[in-house]
Amino acid sequence: MTEPLDSLDYAKNLDKKDTLRHFRSEFYIPSNTIYLDGNSLGLLSKRAEHSLQEVLHSWKTLGIDGWTQGEHPWYYLSETLGEMSASLVGAEPNEVIVTGSTTTNLHQILSTFYQPEGHKNKILADELNFPSDIYALKSQLQLHGLQPETHLVQVKSRDGHTLHEDDIVSAMTEDIAFIVLPSVLYRSGQILDMEYLTREAHKRDILIAFDLCHSIGAVPHCLSKWNVDFAFWCNYKHLNGGPGSVASLYVNQKHFNTSPGLAGWFGSDKNKQFDMEHTMFPASDAGAYQIGTPHLLSAAPLYGSLSMFNEAGIENIRAKSLKMTEYFMELIDKQLHFYDFQIANPQVNEKRGAHIYLEHPEAARICKALKANHVIPDFRSPHGIRLAPVPLYNTYEEIWKTVQLLKRIMDEKLYKKFSNKRDVIA
Ligand SMILES: *Cc1c(COP(=O)(O)O)cnc(C)c1O
Repeated sequence: MTEPLDSLDYAKNLDKKDTLRHFRSEFYIPSNTIYLDGNSLGLLSKRAEHSLQEVLHSWKTLGIDGWTQGEHPWYYLSETLGEMSASLVGAEPNEVIVTGSTTTNLHQILSTFYQPEGHKNKILADELNFPSDIYALKSQLQLHGLQPETHLVQVKSRDGHTLHEDDIVSAMTEDIAFIVLPSVLYRSGQILDMEYLTREAHKRDILIAFDLCHSIGAVPHCLSKWNVDFAFWCNYKHLNGGPGSVASLYVNQKHFNTSPGLAGWFGSDKNKQFDMEHTMFPASDAGAYQIGTPHLLSAAPLYGSLSMFNEAGIENIRAKSLKMTEYFMELIDKQLHFYDFQIANPQVNEKRGAHIYLEHPEAARICKALKANHVIPDFRSPHGIRLAPVPLYNTYEEIWKTVQLLKRIMDEKLYKKFSNKRDVIA
């Protein structure tokens, strides 16, 4: 290829060579729009729409018999979706269950497996994690009669964007019983070395759980090989399961048969559940940690969506994602270097998740100007702009156009038409 990197032809050539490009036509792309917010809410695909319609059809035509008949018998759907997700996280099929929400799954993990004993009773987290996780950890400590101020240890960031694995390991002191960390940080997109952290935690007899919200469907994992104890994630970001989509829970098989801390009848062994006994017989796998009747209409789209991920292959998705974010950064370096943008995501491949994170003092109104011009970014207070090129539906040409638009917004000071404050949802 001889075109200069910052030419439109260069972008078009990359698209031509892209082996995943046929998936784009399977998605509903809002018209006239460059959608770079798939790490907050992924777009609807035709396959996800179709599997939702199949479940609706079962309800329409079968009534209660939809539990055991029809295209996706409801009684087994959580398990089926768990099996379909296993290859994305490197787990055995029965180590993953689709249930609850990200936050309730974290509560279930802690209610079941966080067992403070004597002075080994603290929880280790970090100061950059998503607020909901931290709220859950604090409330769990309180349920045990412990004080969040003293018993939640949050590893500090040296630069406000990233964490040093060695700082985390240094904080794994004798009084830590449990660790909860993100796989990919939701702002800077840094990937933590899950294998290393798990090994170090286990050396010290500490259990470890990872929040995979920003890596699932974007980055491959080997949870079983790394011997990770627990993981949980939402399915509405990179996995395109739809707003409020049912979430997922991974429990390493070595922890099977631990009584659920938050028990409910859908955690039962499936053959015994309808005996209606007052003594519960939990399932012998990750299914035991379900609680009540699954939210089937919010789980159904995942069936279609996961079939696309399994067809595309997570390694291929990761390879394209890295190429897209690398190209994005190169264009930003080349074309936006006058304008005070700071690339605050890690730049090396091994440490970079699936989005670009830019900081700029005028970030809030730059995002509004992007939106007014049909490019959908994600603002993160106070100064952050997240841009996520999604391998299954974004193109290199869209990345090129976005950088041209950013340049125009800065050149022509278009951002000054907007206030530099966040909206209700940002
Ligand atoms: C999106 C996200 C959540 C959201 O939790 P819900 O219970 O699904 O609302 C939690 N943690 C992280 C890291 C996230 O990115």
